[in-house]
Amino acid sequence: PAVSPFLDPGASSSAHSLGILQLKRDHLIPTVLSDASSTEYAEGNVVNTRFGSFTHSSLIGKPWGTQILASVVDTGSRGGRSKKRKREANGEGNAAEDASRSEEPVRSVVKAATTASSGFAHLVPPTPETWTLCLPHRTQVVYTPDYSFIIQKMRLRPGDHIIEAGAGSGSFTHAVARTVFNGYPGLEQPEEKDEQEVNGTTSRKRRRRQQRHGHVYSFEYHKPRAEQLREELVSHGLDPLVTVTNRDVYADGFCVDAENENAPNADVIFLDLPAPWLALKHLTRSPPPPAVVKSIASDTAEPPTTTSAPRPPKPFRSPLNPKTTTRICTFSPCIEQVQKTVAAMRSYGWLDIEMFTMEHKRLEVRRERVGLAEEGLRGANPSPATVQEAVQRLRDVEDRAKVFHGLQKEKQEQIMRRAEAKKRGEQAPAGEGEADGLKKKTEGLPPSKHDRLERAKKESESRALFREGRLVCRTEPEIKTHTSYLVFAMLPVEWTAEDEEKARRKWG
Ligand code: SAM
Repeated sequence: PAVSPFLDPGASSSAHSLGILQLKRDHLIPTVLSDASSTEYAEGNVVNTRFGSFTHSSLIGKPWGTQILASVVDTGSRGGRSKKRKREANGEGNAAEDASRSEEPVRSVVKAATTASSGFAHLVPPTPETWTLCLPHRTQVVYTPDYSFIIQKMRLRPGDHIIEAGAGSGSFTHAVARTVFNGYPGLEQPEEKDEQEVNGTTSRKRRRRQQRHGHVYSFEYHKPRAEQLREELVSHGLDPLVTVTNRDVYADGFCVDAENENAPNADVIFLDLPAPWLALKHLTRSPPPPAVVKSIASDTAEPPTTTSAPRPPKPFRSPLNPKTTTRICTFSPCIEQVQKTVAAMRSYGWLDIEMFTMEHKRLEVRRERVGLAEEGLRGANPSPATVQEAVQRLRDVEDRAKVFHGLQKEKQEQIMRRAEAKKRGEQAPAGEGEADGLKKKTEGLPPSKHDRLERAKKESESRALFREGRLVCRTEPEIKTHTSYLVFAMLPVEWTAEDEEKARRKWG
């Protein structure tokens, strides 16, 4: 099979594969690129965005990271060009509308694809990170700051088998599929050379890992979600690496009916479930004592998502790899869930139990205009920097308006007086020039907007402070990470009487 673009996107975009159009840092649009021949139109399909429209033909064959200029698009024969489309083509679209519509590229006739541009976007390759930012949300998802920490902390690596439940929108699935990838049947990864190999003494453990194909066993009890994820994985070329099973894992556990009867044979577990403690009874090496299982279940007022009717108990089969220490992580939003999970982990023999929370904050560093009073330059800055300044500005505007209206009134009276004098055949009384009057009356008042702008212009030439502002650093209020508690633990391999005997014989 061809390598998934998520594993090896190549150097540039190609027809029929997934490309991601990045409009802003957190605004990305996934698009399967189709070449002209696949549509009835000369220029092929179009992605319409708030920054303009992008023809697929302008996106195919471009090195990843290329800045693409928008093309002007006319819906032409398809019902004429609506006002909304015209606004879009000018980059004036409604952001919310665009975000929802952008999921579905609109088929349009391209009239003047290269004549005018209204915006640009960058074409970036599909990766778990870019996919997390633009995937169709069916549930809350695990974001990159969380999954990068989880993957590192669980020491997930190529060749590992991981169990994941629930799969949800597949954000975590994509990330771990890339990590465990170690070639798949028919497509072997070049073997990694390490120091030991160079010396001709590759360790048995390492060789075993190199020969093993990594795999993700993903469980989701919501059928439409499981099906949608399966379809996405096929279209992303990741299906040979992931087995999606539609199942209630609290009731039915994690063993899958695969060709390999040992499946999943898992080294690592990740549970993003409402009640992870109810799933732990299936993640042991030998059958857990029924009394312990019962007491953990009875601690749950209502099992949150169990859908399956009770079934006759099956013979116990462990989904864990008997030869490796199992590493687990659970992802829960409430501390009460953590308490129950940790209590259950202790009962089932998990060790090294630790809890973490992610406090991921992005720092925004920029230059900001300083307060005018602070700088002793009140009136010079074109826009107010503080509330007090804004209030003072309004008062100044009011004062100037009063003077202006007074002058207008005087002017009207003067015209009337002149007209009457003319009627009587008298000489018109000499009046004060309008400009002189305004100047006299506004003396002592704060400067007008025009004067302020002029002064600011001069100031900015002489003072870098006004040109660039002061350097400030703020944390961004909104950050895409679903705040949760992460519980990590380990389950050692079983140490039997036979192992003890072997060790005694070997080590004495
Ligand atoms: N980790 C996912 C991601 O990154 O996209 C999001 C998981 S979502 C928060 C939780 C999922 O668990 C839901 O899709 C829900 O249907 C599923 N779920 C809840 N109870 C379950 C159960 N007993 N067995 C299997 N899946 C379950």
